[in-house]
Amino acid sequence: MQRTAVFPGSFDPITRGHENVIIRSIPLFERIIIGIGDNAEKRSMFPIEQRLSWIRETFKDYPTVTAEVYRGLTVDFCRKVDSAFIIRGLRTAADFEFERSIGQVNRKLLPGIETIFILSLPEYTALNSSIVRDIIRHGGDPSSFIPESLQGVITNKEAGRGK
Ligand code: ADP
Repeated sequence: MQRTAVFPGSFDPITRGHENVIIRSIPLFERIIIGIGDNAEKRSMFPIEQRLSWIRETFKDYPTVTAEVYRGLTVDFCRKVDSAFIIRGLRTAADFEFERSIGQVNRKLLPGIETIFILSLPEYTALNSSIVRDIIRHGGDPSSFIPESLQGVITNKEAGRGK
């Protein structure tokens, strides 16, 4: 069995913070699957197919990184793709508290699953998708917050078509 990890999230849209966590995880795993959780309760700004294609574009030169959409529990997705690891990024103490409970519950649901935390780079600690959405919504320039390969690609045009 390959050492596989899932990096779950909403990626609405993907930011340099996400990109950095994934790139730094590449040496740790033979395969990384970015799982875009399709959460019916959560309204998104960008349609899920659009978020998926931006992620695929970002990692097109990294053959061990793939992306797919999943519905339901993250642990069920991990079971389906044969992954014993979940990667999460940690920016702040608030992230840690939130992630600790999710990680502990996930281990109850799927014994043996390990959550691996990657510390955010200082320059990305204040960055999240919601800030990027606000910038885009109000016509600002998000270029320093989104991956290099998506410069000029993530714009307001695709916005508002999410659920
Ligand atoms: P969620 O919908 O679960 O909040 P996100 O897409 O916002 O998902 O984030 C997915 C993962 O990426 C989380 O572990 C989050 O902590 C991490 N993350 C988000 N932004 C950053 C960042 N700027 N630096 C490091 N990790 C980040």
